[in-house]
Amino acid sequence: MTTTTDIKIINDSDTQPSEHIDLPSSDFDSRETTSSRIVSRGFSKESQITDLDSFGTPNSIIHMDLDTFFVSCERLLEPKLNGKPVLVGGTSDRGVVSACSYEARQFGVHSAMPMRMAKQLCPEAIVIRGNSSIYSKYSNLVTDIIKEESPLYEKSSIDEFYIDITGMDRFHGSYKWASELRQRIMKETHLPISFGMSTSKTVSKVGTGEAKPNGQIQVLKGNEKNFLAPLSIKKIPMVGDKTYRKFRSMGIEKIQTVQEMPLELMERVFGKNGVVIWKKANGIDNSPVIPFHDRKSISSSLTFERDTIDVRKLKEILTTMAEKLAFYLRNGDKLTSIVTVTVRYSDFDTRSRQMRIPYTANDHTLIATVMNLFNQLYQRRVMARLVGVRFSGLVGGGYQINLFEDSERTIKLYQAMDKVRNRFGQGAVKRAVTMDTRGVGQTSNPFNGEAPVIPAHRRQ
Ligand SMILES: [Mg+2]
Repeated sequence: MTTTTDIKIINDSDTQPSEHIDLPSSDFDSRETTSSRIVSRGFSKESQITDLDSFGTPNSIIHMDLDTFFVSCERLLEPKLNGKPVLVGGTSDRGVVSACSYEARQFGVHSAMPMRMAKQLCPEAIVIRGNSSIYSKYSNLVTDIIKEESPLYEKSSIDEFYIDITGMDRFHGSYKWASELRQRIMKETHLPISFGMSTSKTVSKVGTGEAKPNGQIQVLKGNEKNFLAPLSIKKIPMVGDKTYRKFRSMGIEKIQTVQEMPLELMERVFGKNGVVIWKKANGIDNSPVIPFHDRKSISSSLTFERDTIDVRKLKEILTTMAEKLAFYLRNGDKLTSIVTVTVRYSDFDTRSRQMRIPYTANDHTLIATVMNLFNQLYQRRVMARLVGVRFSGLVGGGYQINLFEDSERTIKLYQAMDKVRNRFGQGAVKRAVTMDTRGVGQTSNPFNGEAPVIPAHRRQ
């Protein structure tokens, strides 16, 4: 029965939507991109941002990040939490802190710490089991405002954005523009948000970190190195625990030391990463703001050799697809917010149905959504020629958002399943219902591998 199966990440500004799925629904045909939305604050669509670049205007990039986002959402719902140490995360024994308030941080608590340890450090903390549907709702509210105001933005995680306003200076102070955007977000959503602004993504992100909580900062062109110099190398976005320990073992703590190190030495010690770290430390970063839109997606489809009307079979295949795509999401540290199911009948009539859901990468949520959509969709009792699943509206995971919805048993199951899959390959673990569906899931992890259609500059 199996013929073609495919995994791909699609970004409609790069590629055709899909060779495998025709999507007749209006949502998918919408060609509007964020970059065409230059409508607010006195800017007309005639303002040619690209022309302004030729005047030699420096890049102007804003990084915006909601402060202790999950905690702030919880405080909107329960004002009594204001001013108190709050931990949001998994509440089971194996739970992890997803977010903590500044009051809790004073006790040495930080995110990604085991909840049990956090409770020991700060016994008076109020522990709340996270709720991804609430955070998704507020995340979307903020995104809508940024989308409305910004010429070009990237949603890099559920609570983080990059906005490119290069060229805006000619009409309007860009710092003033950013301040007004921040004020509007706070006024309309009541969520605290901070921003950093500079000529690059890296310096702006570091800037946001320095501006927090509830602040804003601008690093002027030419001042990037001075701004970074006194800060800990830990503040460079790509320096994780392991790299940091290596720096410390070399007696290096400040970014300034890296700035003064010869590039060759950095390369010898840290390899290719060393070069990137050195550049970032020196404020050199040309990575572009990648336009965000809901069509950024991952999908899987299957065309049958012989058309089928076997509903059980169709459901098994869709379950396998959802399961496999969810695994890729988790492995790529991504979450989806839109699920689409497509059925093509033997007469080539193709139907799709989609649903917006809270950000997730959980099998059981995604499988249930896919089944629900399929049941709504498969109304004609006609032979099916193709079925497909697509997850779109992808954002970076960042937080342990998948974990707090689930019981300890589920978390353990996911971790075990993903571990086995990573070790022995995709097909090694399957839910009972998908056992006889072979041939779905032959591709490598699209977030790590070379297979998917995604241009190099879009890999982040
Ligand atoms: Mg944040």
